[in-house]
Amino acid sequence: MKLALSPEEVKFRDELRELYRTKIPAEIRDRVKYGLELSRDDIVTTHRILNANGLAVPKWPTAWGGQDWTPMQLHIWEDEMQLASVPEPLTFNAQMIGPVIAQFGSEELKQRFLPPTANLDIWWCQGFSEPDAGSDLASLRTTAVRDGDSYIVNGQKIWTTLAQYADWIFCLVRTDPGVKKQAGISLLLFDVKTPGVTIRPIKLIDGHHEVNEVFFENVRVPADQLVGEENMGWTYAKFLLGNERTGITGVGRTKVKLGVAKEYAAQIRSGSGTLLEDPVFAARIAEIENELLALELTLMRVVSNSTGDKPNPASSVLKLRGSELQQAATELLLDIAGSDALPVNTDDIASPGWAQRSGPAYLNYRKTTIYGGSSEVQRTIIASTILGL
Ligand SMILES: Cc1cc2nc3c(=O)[nH]c(=O)nc-3n(C[C@H](O)[C@H](O)[C@H](O)COP(=O)(O)OP(=O)(O)OC[C@H]3O[C@@H](n4cnc5c(N)ncnc54)[C@H](O)[C@@H]3O)c2cc1C
Repeated sequence: MKLALSPEEVKFRDELRELYRTKIPAEIRDRVKYGLELSRDDIVTTHRILNANGLAVPKWPTAWGGQDWTPMQLHIWEDEMQLASVPEPLTFNAQMIGPVIAQFGSEELKQRFLPPTANLDIWWCQGFSEPDAGSDLASLRTTAVRDGDSYIVNGQKIWTTLAQYADWIFCLVRTDPGVKKQAGISLLLFDVKTPGVTIRPIKLIDGHHEVNEVFFENVRVPADQLVGEENMGWTYAKFLLGNERTGITGVGRTKVKLGVAKEYAAQIRSGSGTLLEDPVFAARIAEIENELLALELTLMRVVSNSTGDKPNPASSVLKLRGSELQQAATELLLDIAGSDALPVNTDDIASPGWAQRSGPAYLNYRKTTIYGGSSEVQRTIIASTILGL
């Protein structure tokens, strides 16, 4: 197992460290660091700066803007980005549909979609889940029926993240109802402004609007917007979801949250000192930091043994534990805030902004053990694929 960086890797890391902190506006990075909401513009601006510097889509083939980096370089790119609180390139574009089009799309689809996807000129959203098809995604019921040069799409998607900002959707549809459920699915691309598409917000427990329901009523989609072959969508979805899982470990993000938690704890009086000096509190921080270090070592081990050509089943361990530690960090912030967390979004009560945000953030992070494959499903994958149970 290789854990120390080589001199070249250190140089690579230092260059990225500098670039993230000088090219990406400090006010955007501060919003990420302190958990304030990002606007669509913040995300687009950052994504385009990263793309202009060759840093938005490094995992893509080099012909389409990717970098021929080692798995360790890719890890450093992502980790340093999180440590600098840079909003990561839009996952739907960079990690999901881009790599699928690059791998399975026709030359024409690549030419048409990859450059604007890399530059976030098209904002994609992910139309996979349906009310009765989440973990059991292959049960999806949205249909696409061929009609001349088009498909006619009917059905409903749910939990579609940031669809309110999206230009296009990549959508799993049933094109053959008469075969085994995995075999009759296709992947279609279409503009969300196509007649018959309705996007409705779902208001979440934290008060924000992040996910949506999307309805399709006789939506006419040109057949040349099918990715790859008809009825092969399950293969493309599995490829895409494998990429998603590795991206959500979030070690760097959790480190930043713990750093911020310590900053706040040092400002709170407790006994004759500060909360940060309280032995029980300090022990709790040390425990989370140790768990995070263990996860980071596991991540480095996976990265340094990775050949980079296919997702590693250990990514399930990273997703499972990474999401739990992200939750532990937001819970810690909530506990530091104490009763100051009770008011939310108000100037009338003397409670600092960070404390008012800690409750919604805590609630929002409950999602991490659900999306990208729930913890229960990850445990099943670990049991069967890694432990051979
Ligand atoms: C914040 C957020 C954003 C999302 N964004 C998107 C998006 O942009 N696009 C999109 O397509 N989807 C999105 N999703 C959907 C997400 O992928 C699903 O929520 C997830 O796959 C779980 O499916 P489900 O919600 O239908 O729960 P279910 O599958 O109904 O699961 C309910 C419970 O049963 C458990 N369970 C289910 N099956 C098994 C099993 N076989 N063994 C053991 N336990 C099981 C689950 O772990 C869970 O605890 C998002 C979800 C969230 C929370």
